[in-house]
Amino acid sequence: MRLCKLTCQPAPIAIVVLISNHSLKVLLVEDNLADATLIADLLGSFSDAIFCLQIVRSLEEGIECLRVAEFDAILLDLSVPDDLGRSDTIAILKARSPTVPIVVLTDQNDQHTALSVLRSGAQDCLVKGRFNRTLLVRAIHYAIERQRIEEQLRQQAQRERVLSKMIENIRSSIDATSILQNTVAEVRQFLKTDRVLIYRCQSFAEKIDTEEQKCQIVASDGLPEGYIDNPNIRSTLAMSCLFLAESKSVQAISDVSAAELTDSWKELMADCEMVAVLSVPIWQSGEKKSIDEISSNSIWENEKDEDYPEDSMALLALEKPQILLESGSKSGSENDNYLWGILTAYNCTGVRQWQQWEIEFLKHLANQVAIAIEQSQLYRKLAIANQKLQQLATTDGLTQIANRRQFDHVLMLEWRRLGREELPLSLILFDIDFFKPYNDFYGHLAGDECLYQVAKAIASAVKRAGDLSARYGGEEFVVLLPNTSAEGANMIARKICDRLERLKLPHARSEVEPYVTLSCGIATTIPSPQESPDSLIHNADGALYQAKAEGKNRICHASNNLINITNNQDTAVNQDAAMPFPYH
Ligand code: GH3
Ligand code: MG
Ligand code: MG
Repeated sequence: MRLCKLTCQPAPIAIVVLISNHSLKVLLVEDNLADATLIADLLGSFSDAIFCLQIVRSLEEGIECLRVAEFDAILLDLSVPDDLGRSDTIAILKARSPTVPIVVLTDQNDQHTALSVLRSGAQDCLVKGRFNRTLLVRAIHYAIERQRIEEQLRQQAQRERVLSKMIENIRSSIDATSILQNTVAEVRQFLKTDRVLIYRCQSFAEKIDTEEQKCQIVASDGLPEGYIDNPNIRSTLAMSCLFLAESKSVQAISDVSAAELTDSWKELMADCEMVAVLSVPIWQSGEKKSIDEISSNSIWENEKDEDYPEDSMALLALEKPQILLESGSKSGSENDNYLWGILTAYNCTGVRQWQQWEIEFLKHLANQVAIAIEQSQLYRKLAIANQKLQQLATTDGLTQIANRRQFDHVLMLEWRRLGREELPLSLILFDIDFFKPYNDFYGHLAGDECLYQVAKAIASAVKRAGDLSARYGGEEFVVLLPNTSAEGANMIARKICDRLERLKLPHARSEVEPYVTLSCGIATTIPSPQESPDSLIHNADGALYQAKAEGKNRICHASNNLINITNNQDTAVNQDAAMPFPYH
């Protein structure tokens, strides 16, 4: 044992340094020289423990020492002089060095003092003159241990807080892509690893040689810019992930080069700069889907092909077919689970001993990610179902064009919009000529088919975004043309009539032509907030009435339409006639 002198500002009154590799550095804050010497003697002469003791006379000096050096424990005389008041002494030291345990030395032998110093943050309390070497050393060791446990609990609580925040973030989103991306970023930050990625695996058992194979890295953080764009690197990385996934269990590899792996796997992982790897599986519950099913429901279906060029996938599929995942119950941790993918964190430089809590943390997150993926898929299915429902609610079942309800809705919206913008809105009403005789002659089913064909002809002529063709009711159809003049509407009506003429759907009971024809009424206006859109329908109806009255198979305009059409003989234009209402 060798004594030597340490220098520390401000100068301590006595220093005992026992050179040892495992010495505990203890700071004694004590103004009483006799007490300080006694403690130095007790610690210095203790044979089982080796201490490096530094003694200061005031709190201020103690704080300065804590600033310049690290200590394992503090022995604090509560009666040291300072300007801050005795009750704050412990709190002041704790604020300076929160993780250094404090053993208080006091003259007061009462429970109240002992409890109050513990509540203030000290780890133990000894009454001066009432402890021997064993008790003192034990108190220091216990204080260090208590502090260590406290620190562990504090870290655990902090990890739990971070974890619940992450879980909250995962649950608050229904977009799987952003869930996965946020997860890898947060994991990397929390575990302080170089890279984190989520790899999605699929069974190749069903289709081994098609470009539909979709093993992919679906989220990553920490990869160098453009790294994953290189097909060779991506393929090597995917291979390494596939290898990790193949184990279907947690992989905590502290040093890849020293792990029990074949040289080729070590090489492969080294190529991806994987030095220390922690990987956990992501399980999905339920029946494993076939590739086709996944393709149609995939949350990443849009990314599938450009992400994985055929050649890199061929490498995956053909070079190592023996590691491809098997389909069926064997691939799951339980019978009805299947391996969806893996969550992998790794360091590129330096080995790393993965802690148990880090493994548990990653496993927990992988479970949450699995739930979020499932929820996201369900949400997507729900959205598709809602979309279909919405389509059903707005489409006419017989003709497959918009129904009356949808027309009313769009008319109201366009009426308001074009009213604000002061632009024209045109409406064409169509009615099939002699349709009752058609039904009577050909039968109701043929009548239905005729309605379908007419709807198709109308819809195919109405192409501009915002235009709407709809079944108005019975054998009447309507076309709504926003921002379209009467001339424009006339052109559309003419186009539709021409199409029907070319179609020549036979009509043996028509009195105008031997095929199905239409009568059309057109109304155009700049919507005004004072008027209802019904006025537009009313005017178009009036024009339709006139078309019927004038002999059918023709187009008529509402009396207030400003129109100048000269080059079409078939078009019956009525600019001046006052339209009779009601018309039927
Ligand atoms: P006009 O030339 O003056 O228009 O006479 P029309 O016979 O076409 O008109 P009317 O209003 O007398 O008859 C309309 C017919 O349309 C009567 C009805 O049976 C038929 N109809 C309405 N809805 C449907 C349907 O969904 N399917 C079939 N097949 N027929 C329908
Ligand atoms: Mg009718
Ligand atoms: Mg009719």
